[in-house]
Amino acid sequence: MSFLSKQSVIDELNKAKASKTKEWRDNLPTWCPGCGHFTGLHGLYEAAEKLKIPPKDFVVVSGIGCSGRFPFFIKGFGLHGLHGRAIPIATGIKVASPDLTVVVVGGDGDGVGIGGGHFPHAARSNFNLTYILLDNSIYGLTKGQISPTSPMGMKSGTSPYGNIARPLNPTTLALAYGATFVARTFSRERDMVSELITKAIQHKGFSFIHDLSPCVVFNKVVTYNSWNDVAAKLPEEHDILNRSRAMMLADSTEPIYQGLFFREEIPSFDDHVQKVKDGLNQPA
Ligand code: SF4
Ligand code: MG
Repeated sequence: MSFLSKQSVIDELNKAKASKTKEWRDNLPTWCPGCGHFTGLHGLYEAAEKLKIPPKDFVVVSGIGCSGRFPFFIKGFGLHGLHGRAIPIATGIKVASPDLTVVVVGGDGDGVGIGGGHFPHAARSNFNLTYILLDNSIYGLTKGQISPTSPMGMKSGTSPYGNIARPLNPTTLALAYGATFVARTFSRERDMVSELITKAIQHKGFSFIHDLSPCVVFNKVVTYNSWNDVAAKLPEEHDILNRSRAMMLADSTEPIYQGLFFREEIPSFDDHVQKVKDGLNQPA
């Protein structure tokens, strides 16, 4: 089933033209036409515009991969770091300068493959960062090898007989690791992507967005249409304070739910650091 009717394309184009995000746009994105990452980038522009984050206070840190190019396309400070190491770099920036808005962007390979050891500790420590994981279930920049989120049986240059490992689910991982804001979006849903990235940045603590963001060139198995066939919004009555229910819904593959699964307000890592600093400044 295809969702790209001519009218929907025209509507989206008109919305893009009406957008007031010029202040945050930098170099023209170099992704392939149709890449899902355009929606995530636009969502970040819109969030910065809605929250009026001055570019001088805005930092985007990325790892390696097609999503690693994000910092080049956004006005603000940016760091295109080592593969899988965006979270520790961003953590250092945020702890040193807590007033900055720090966003981490990376792909599935970068986030739950090479950098998979950093994600749990950022979540459980409740670092005050927003982490957008753009998941296309493939290594796109290196021309199409299976990634940690590729489905079983998927063939690629490195798996000619089919992937024999089960895929990871970044949304359930974030919930299990103790993240205090967990959402899943789909690059087809431009407004939802913008809205949830905005809320994630507003959240005080570790906010995680798992964006289903198809690679239209190298992944012919996990595509807009394959996700479109099983995509559904979270039930309206879903209680975002219920982590175990969120986990059950996030684990579903038919449908694959999108929306805000979980949110919890507890002190962030910054708050604890401030407390320690205040204690040290007390007269003996
Ligand atoms: Fe996007 Fe895939 Fe092209 Fe990379 S190779 S820019 S992920 S479509
Ligand atoms: Mg990828």
